[in-house]
Amino acid sequence: MDEFDLIKQYFRRQHRCPGVVVDNGDDCAVVTLAAAERLVFSIDTLVEGRHFTADIAPHDLGYRALATALSDLAAMGAEPRYFTLALTLPNVDKQWLSAFSQGLFELADQHAMALLGGDTTKGPLTITIQVHGVVSEDRYLSRNGAKVDDIIAVTGTLGDAAAGLQSLLRSSAEAEPFLLSRFLRPTPRIDEGMALLAYSRCGIDISDGLLADLGHIVAASGVAASVDVTTLPTSTALAFIDDVAQRQHYQLSGGDDYELCVTIAPAQWLAAQAYFSAQGWPLTAIGYIVAAETGRESITLRAGSVELAVTATGFKHF
Ligand code: ADP
Ligand code: MG
Repeated sequence: MDEFDLIKQYFRRQHRCPGVVVDNGDDCAVVTLAAAERLVFSIDTLVEGRHFTADIAPHDLGYRALATALSDLAAMGAEPRYFTLALTLPNVDKQWLSAFSQGLFELADQHAMALLGGDTTKGPLTITIQVHGVVSEDRYLSRNGAKVDDIIAVTGTLGDAAAGLQSLLRSSAEAEPFLLSRFLRPTPRIDEGMALLAYSRCGIDISDGLLADLGHIVAASGVAASVDVTTLPTSTALAFIDDVAQRQHYQLSGGDDYELCVTIAPAQWLAAQAYFSAQGWPLTAIGYIVAAETGRESITLRAGSVELAVTATGFKHF
């Protein structure tokens, strides 16, 4: 099987994506955007041994690679459209390619996304995905829009993926299925991100942990944050962990949840809450934005009204 057969068999698919003028298979793809649409794009690389281990199921790897890339579009409130895939493979393994592409397209199809191109080379297993989405004119979520008194809210539940990863590292046989799936097959909060544009212009996705990612918002916005750890949304599965300190560590500093963290003006909060609850989507207030003060932590933690020392920080790559 040569490179071109491989691409044709596994990576060229029918899709429902609008505006594709030249599809995958030419030197470049060509797409049309409506006059009011703005292109939003982002790229991510996953390297074996660094971002995943050799024992991950290829189906999960395909799904997860696209999910983590899509989470960045969700964090902007963008609607996903297309993606490109640069695949570096040590060898051509048909079973692997079939499972990987199935996982990838399972998620792509959920969002009517088209794989419009890519590159295929030989080398250590590396997956690079660039995702493209659209927003309408200047309506997007960015990191620098937080204002004093805004409510800090998060989608979904926190800490699940970190707990899932830990149990996987200890013994995959004992891993709790829900927590494990939160790590292996995260859900990019695309619909939530687009809906949040009605109530907010400031948000981020939680990939490196709440403290690290909320830290990016407060740094970019020139403000500080006060977070009540007793309000962090907790899944039933995570609540089974008896060690409260460990659980809070997962929720504050564990990465990989791919939930959204947004700041919402108090006047918008009830409407946002009502909309999310009508959709059946969790949206939880966990604190509020305060003025930055020199000599003070940019994020202070509370348990109710009792201030806590910040001991946990988010994951950093270097
Ligand atoms: P070129 O040499 O013109 O860059 P390639 O030979 O690399 O083109 O690829 C041929 C076609 O297949 C192009 O349309 C390219 O976008 C597509 N393609 C290559 N690799 C992949 C991949 N891993 N996934 C999807 N499409 C791919
Ligand atoms: Mg070419």
